[in-house]
Amino acid sequence: MDCYDAAEALSRPEIAQLQIGRLRRSLAQAAKSPFYARRFAEAGFDPESVHSLDDVGRIPFTTKQDLRDSYPDGMLALPHSEMVRMHASSGTTGTPTVIYHTQKDLDWWASLMARCMYMVGLRRTDVFQNMSGYGLFTGGLGIHYGAEKLGCLTIPAGAGNSHRQIKLLTDFKVTGIHIIPSYALYLHSIFAEIGLDPRDLPLRIALVGAEPYTEEARGRLQELYGIKAYNSYGLSEMNGPGVAFECQEQNGMHVWEDAYLAEIVDPATGEPVAEGELGELVMTTLGREGMPVIRYRTRDMTRFLPGQCPCGRAHRRIDRLHGRCDDMLIIKGVNIFPMQIERVLMAMPEVGQDYQIVLERDGYIDNIRVRVEIRDEFFVEDMRQLGALQKRIAARLRDEILVTPKVELVERNSLPKTEGKASRVVDKRESGA
Ligand code: AMP
Ligand code: ZN
Repeated sequence: MDCYDAAEALSRPEIAQLQIGRLRRSLAQAAKSPFYARRFAEAGFDPESVHSLDDVGRIPFTTKQDLRDSYPDGMLALPHSEMVRMHASSGTTGTPTVIYHTQKDLDWWASLMARCMYMVGLRRTDVFQNMSGYGLFTGGLGIHYGAEKLGCLTIPAGAGNSHRQIKLLTDFKVTGIHIIPSYALYLHSIFAEIGLDPRDLPLRIALVGAEPYTEEARGRLQELYGIKAYNSYGLSEMNGPGVAFECQEQNGMHVWEDAYLAEIVDPATGEPVAEGELGELVMTTLGREGMPVIRYRTRDMTRFLPGQCPCGRAHRRIDRLHGRCDDMLIIKGVNIFPMQIERVLMAMPEVGQDYQIVLERDGYIDNIRVRVEIRDEFFVEDMRQLGALQKRIAARLRDEILVTPKVELVERNSLPKTEGKASRVVDKRESGA
C-alpha cells in the first residue's frame, strides 16, 4: 500500500488504541468551552469517566440546533485570539453554523485532504483545478490547501463561469479536478456547445462530492469525461472535505478514523444500529483543538460496509450517502429518497443530465411530479414517441418508488441551475399551489 502518511496504514487494533486516547483528550478539550462545560454538567456526564470505546454511548449528542444556539462562538475551547479562520455550513436559512480553526487545526485538515488526494493517485506533478465556490463554503479552501500541501499546481477557479473553467482546463493541461456532481453533469453540455470533447483533455481524476449523487451519475461522469471519479464526503462541522474518501477500489469511502470517531445510529432512538444497517452517521472530532465537536448528529444516512477493503487500509468504509434523513419524502404513505429517483433516471440513455422533483397537493392527495431533461436526439416532434418515453420513465420510477409519478419531459438545460449544491426538490404542497 502506497500511503501519504503513517496513520493511513494503521491496523485495526492500532486505530482503536489511538482513538480512545484521542477521544479522551478531545472530551477534555471540549469541556473547556462554555457550551460543553454546561452540556456535560447538565447531563451529569464526567468526561474523565470514558475509558474505552464502549463508553461512547454515554456521551451526550450535539445537534445542528446546538451549534446554532451557541452562535457565534459558544463552542470555542481556546481563546478567540488563537483562531485563524472560520467557515460556515451551506444551509441557506436561519442562523448559520460556524466552525473556527486554529493554525494547527488547519494544518491537520490540509494533511487529511492531501492524504485523500494521494490515495486516488494525484501527485505533486498534477495540475489541479478546484471548481467549487471559495468563501465560507469548505469545498473551496479545504480542498485548495490539501492540493497545495500535496504539491500540485493548484488553480483556484471557484464556482461557475463555465467557459472560463473550460479554458483553464484546456490551457493549463489540468489533470485533476474537484467538482460538484450536478455541476459536472451540466458543464458537459457546455463542452458540447463549444464543440470540445473533454475526453480529449489530459484530465484523469475528479474528486466529486458535497451533495448526494448515485452510482449511475458517477458512471455517466466517468464516461462523459473519460476520467475516474472518486466520491468525497465531508461537512463543515467536521472541517469539510477530507472526512471520508473513496480509494481506488471505488467501493465505499474510508473514514479517517485517526481524526474522527464515526458511529451509525437509529435516527429515531439514537441507539447504534446493527452492524451493516442503514442509519444516521454520528461524528466526533478526535484532534481539533480550537472547536471540538462531540457526537455530532450529521442527519446523513449511510451504513458501514462490512469486511476488509482490498486496498489494505483498515479505516472503516461508509456506503455512498443515501441523502439526509430530513430529505426523505413521504408521498401517499411511502418513504422516498430523491436518490432513488436519480438512480432510475440516470440509468436511462434518453434522459439528459438534470431533473427536478415537484411535490404537489391535489385536494387531500399528495402527488409527485418528476421533470426530466431529455437528450436532444430524443427530444423529437412525434408526440407518440414522446408519450411512450414518458410512460416508460413513469413505469420504471414506479417500480423503484412504488408510487406512480407524473412525468414531464423538458428540453436540455431548461431546469434551474445553481452555482453551489443542487436543489432539486420543490415542495408546492404548503402553498396549496
Ligand atoms: P456543508 O457543511 O454545508 O458543506 O454540507 C455538508 C453536507 O453535504 C453533508 O452533511 C452531506 O449532507 C452533504 N454531502 C457532502 N458530501 C457528500 C457526498 N459525497 N455525498 C452525499 N452528500 C454529501
Ligand atoms: Zn480501500
